[in-house]
Amino acid sequence: MMHSVDVCIVGAGFSGLLAAILVSQRGGTCCIIEKHAITSGSISNAHYLNAYSLEILSAAGLSIDALRAVAVDDEIDKRMVVCHTLNRTLAQVNLLEESDYEDRFSRIGRFGACLNVRASHLHAMLVMRAHELGIDIRSQHQVLSLDFSNHLVHVQDSVTMDSTTIQCGYLMGCDGAQSQIAQLSSRSVSREQEFQYFFTVECHGSIRQFVQDPALFYWVYHEQMIACLVNFDIDHLQVLQVPVMSGQASTWTENHIRECYSAILDIPTSACQHRFTIRGEWALKTARLDQAQTDNWVYFCGDAFHQVLPAGGLGLNQALADVFNLIWKLDLDQQSLSSVSILDTYACERIPVADKVIEQSIDNYRQFMSMASQFLGGADQSWLRWVSSTLPRSLCQPMISSWLRTIRSLHDVGYISSSWDHVMRLNRTHFDGMSMHYAAKYTSRLIFEPSQRIFYALDTVPHALYVGYRLQSFTCRLNGKIVYLSDCLKYSQWTIVFVAGGVGIPDMLSGAMGRFQALSIDDDCQSIRALPLRASHCILIRPDRYLAAHIDLTDRDCVRRFSVFCQSLMSCAI
Ligand SMILES: Cc1cc2nc3c(=O)[nH]c(=O)nc-3n(C[C@H](O)[C@H](O)[C@H](O)COP(=O)(O)OP(=O)(O)OC[C@H]3O[C@@H](n4cnc5c(N)ncnc54)[C@H](O)[C@@H]3O)c2cc1C
Repeated sequence: MMHSVDVCIVGAGFSGLLAAILVSQRGGTCCIIEKHAITSGSISNAHYLNAYSLEILSAAGLSIDALRAVAVDDEIDKRMVVCHTLNRTLAQVNLLEESDYEDRFSRIGRFGACLNVRASHLHAMLVMRAHELGIDIRSQHQVLSLDFSNHLVHVQDSVTMDSTTIQCGYLMGCDGAQSQIAQLSSRSVSREQEFQYFFTVECHGSIRQFVQDPALFYWVYHEQMIACLVNFDIDHLQVLQVPVMSGQASTWTENHIRECYSAILDIPTSACQHRFTIRGEWALKTARLDQAQTDNWVYFCGDAFHQVLPAGGLGLNQALADVFNLIWKLDLDQQSLSSVSILDTYACERIPVADKVIEQSIDNYRQFMSMASQFLGGADQSWLRWVSSTLPRSLCQPMISSWLRTIRSLHDVGYISSSWDHVMRLNRTHFDGMSMHYAAKYTSRLIFEPSQRIFYALDTVPHALYVGYRLQSFTCRLNGKIVYLSDCLKYSQWTIVFVAGGVGIPDMLSGAMGRFQALSIDDDCQSIRALPLRASHCILIRPDRYLAAHIDLTDRDCVRRFSVFCQSLMSCAI
């Protein structure tokens, strides 16, 4: 049987579902091939969504309020604890206690810097949205082979064993870290580095009565187990991440987990009422495909394209940003509305971002791992070096257990309190970075290096001019017709968008106007995803740079910064 679609997507994870939704919203046809049952839920433990991801999800029709409703409680969201047992806090970070935190946080973007939503909630919402749009999701199907000459995907239903052939204009590999599509496309991998294995267990039950300080993260340093406990729901669900050696996971039986969990709850094993779901072992590794596409037919997104370490919560956000970058270009390409090279810009833009994010995640991880060795500030240096080089590869060594017992006893006598400051400063920096998502770093590079000809992708919403928006997915009414803004933009040119009959562009901009394409749109907020433009605002956007400035012409400070920016445009060839 032969079936034909514009885009065939392999993998119904975050990137695959988002891709299908965006294709479908733009009127394209698509189908998703997923090897597992869709109801099995995502096993990802991702939870940090940055402001840009929220912008994207909102463009995909998800309600940010609904996401907020399932987000981690405010009570714990900005707190992390280092502890021996959960009722024995050694030190803690609470960002909300910092006087400037709220202010910094709210400035970061229109949705705030991040939202802490468990990935399985997000996955369920994406599945629901895909169903709403009537997207054809073929779960429990596998790809048998690809025909690059005729753009065919041969697929088999793993239950009935029926085979189908799908002809598609584009094929998207959204099939995660062990991408079969990358293998079938003979893509090679670069930047491959393996760090550590973790073992994941979901712990169902309440820890409310056992914790000294409610927090999102507990870094547990206990003789029986070093672990990170992510407290998604204090009354119902925590996820335990235990560093292990590869293959060691088999020793983590349910009984052993119960013993360790009871130990950190500081209760007898028989009193532990929790139910455990073992999610298994996974590798902490980085990798990137050598190319983002094959034969102008297969395109890779998310973990299939690049894998980053979980430190800093970057992978899922990158997966969403990849897809958002690609889909509108596929659409323009398919309609032959773009220049031939528009699809090449996907790789130009996303490969540097992938590499930067890989490095960032390694930095985060190293910084994090260095904390363990810093607990014993006054200890003998050679012994400390041994501990830090050994940790956490061989956690089961008796030496480490005795080291952890030492931590406990030293803490009891207050001996190590002087070294806490430094450790907790590192902890705080990391945590704060996650919540702000390094937004400022991407941003300032965009604004202050206008002469760079390198493509950048802005993965967070804000920038120095004013609140910014990634605008491609918005619609506007132009000469009475609803159109996508992206269809009106010229790829490598600045476009200034303003409302016809509004307050107009002040004289100070006129000198720079020759540099811009001016687009005057109808004053109408009734379009599908109306461009958020009021009469006193204008928007400056250049899609290849992902820079969109939302300028309020009544705000003098904003106009002044905009004017400086325009002058910099005039003085350099971009
Ligand atoms: C412990 C942990 C914590 C993390 N925390 C964060 C965080 O806080 N923030 C963040 O941004 N990221 C985080 N990440 C990373 C994040 O989980 C991934 O980057 C994200 O899941 C990638 O999404 P994806 O859709 O590309 O791939 P996946 O989520 O892996 O989805 C791939 C889909 O493809 C399917 N599939 C696989 N092979 C095939 C095949 N051959 N045929 C058909 N279907 C197939 C799979 O079943 C799955 O449904 C974390 C990761 C880990 C491990």
